[in-house]
Amino acid sequence: MNTRDAATNGALPFSRSDQPHALTLRDWLTHLARTGRVATIDRAVSLEHELAAIAKRLDGKQAAFFTQPGGHDVSVVSGFMSKRAWIAEAMGVAESDLLARFRSAAEHPLASKVLDRVDAACQQVVHTSGIDLHAQLPIPTHSEHDNGPYITAGLVIARNPRTGVQNVSINRIQVHGPDRMAILLLPRHLYAFQKAAEEAGEALDVAIAIGVDPLTMLASQAITPIDHDELEIAGALHGAPLSVVKCVTNGVHVPAFAEIVIEGRILPNLREPEGPFGEFPKYYSAKEAREVIDVTALTHRRAPIFHTIVPAEMEHLLLGAIPREATLLAHLQRSHPGVKDVHLSVGGVCRYHLWVQFDKKREGEAKNVILCAFGAHYDIKQVIVVDTDVDVHDPAEIEWAVATRFQADRDLIVIEGAQGSPLDPSTTVGQPEDAPSHLQGVSAKMGFDATRPVVYPAHVFTRVRIPGEDDVALDALAAADNAAFDAYLGRHDD
Ligand code: MN
Repeated sequence: MNTRDAATNGALPFSRSDQPHALTLRDWLTHLARTGRVATIDRAVSLEHELAAIAKRLDGKQAAFFTQPGGHDVSVVSGFMSKRAWIAEAMGVAESDLLARFRSAAEHPLASKVLDRVDAACQQVVHTSGIDLHAQLPIPTHSEHDNGPYITAGLVIARNPRTGVQNVSINRIQVHGPDRMAILLLPRHLYAFQKAAEEAGEALDVAIAIGVDPLTMLASQAITPIDHDELEIAGALHGAPLSVVKCVTNGVHVPAFAEIVIEGRILPNLREPEGPFGEFPKYYSAKEAREVIDVTALTHRRAPIFHTIVPAEMEHLLLGAIPREATLLAHLQRSHPGVKDVHLSVGGVCRYHLWVQFDKKREGEAKNVILCAFGAHYDIKQVIVVDTDVDVHDPAEIEWAVATRFQADRDLIVIEGAQGSPLDPSTTVGQPEDAPSHLQGVSAKMGFDATRPVVYPAHVFTRVRIPGEDDVALDALAAADNAAFDAYLGRHDD
């Protein structure tokens, strides 16, 4: 426990500058293991629910490493980036600099470096025939009502058929045949590529990279315009160009150090059923007809590690939160330089509830900030704006600000009938079950101005402080032995 505390508090033991090469998953797991943050489950564990149940209980505490998942000799890891502090550590920055570091990388991408195949770890073993994903990979079934095994931590990489620029995203993928998978495409960049290919009557080449380091995982979630290759953001986060290699059966470039790569093609004009599947809001998505991937190759390292993300747990939520927070902060600061920090709360599934720390100079400004946040992303459903003396990362501080600086009749904004998250089940109330997609996700927005007035009478909003409280040396107090305490009580017992 001491090593774990030392690793997450105080000086950063894992300096990025110590890395002579781009951080790999193996480097990171080794570091976690040396600091007491890997639980190795060295016994047979079922891929159906049991593995996910164990990983879920360890999420946010330790990464789970399974050596015998479902009788496979390929191991499974989960939960290696399930704390904000760990992610900051992987980046080599203090937690308070996480968003600034991510934003800077997103704004200054580094072109990738293409390796020869012989140098690419992810192609140490190559299968192009007789592929049976269920037999070759330990793919877990996670939640109770999931429709079978899912790949949840695969970086889906494809090229824009019009420009040739790559895109990276994480999509849920149901493996429903030996070499066939159904994939959920939300209306973003990969979806646009697939539509363009389909209109031309062509398949879209893709690759799914599984088992990459935390920085590459995070970069894949950057919110950027189309034709910005997220692997170049990963390079910027690493501080060195990312090494990539061309796939064996198509022209897509994948991280060369990935543990496992599945190559394939999204087939045109074909849909097969996918779902139900337990998603990030902690509810199930329904079974629907989805795009289909025909697998053309499976490549991997020798003794590869398969990464699975337990849906709706911290590893999943933080992966979405940090890139979104960095984007939302930049968006808000463009119009409101007084915005200091933002936080997507865990209770709001790191998507729906945004807390904003704001240096208000004029009355009414907090309401402008709220409206700006609603316009920044359709997922934002509730915004709370607080002053700079409130810790925007602490739920108790936010509630205190609402309790003492907010009056519902003058500080509450409600907007009816806006677009929200289609995955929020409360948006479906009153809708027919088969509502067409253009009617789904209609949602109200709620904003709280929990800032105090710019000018207020002395002492009314003066926060109670005790002189010297911030200077108390807690470590020294905790380390003191209890001899004096025992002696004092002993004296009175006599
Ligand atoms: Mn993109």
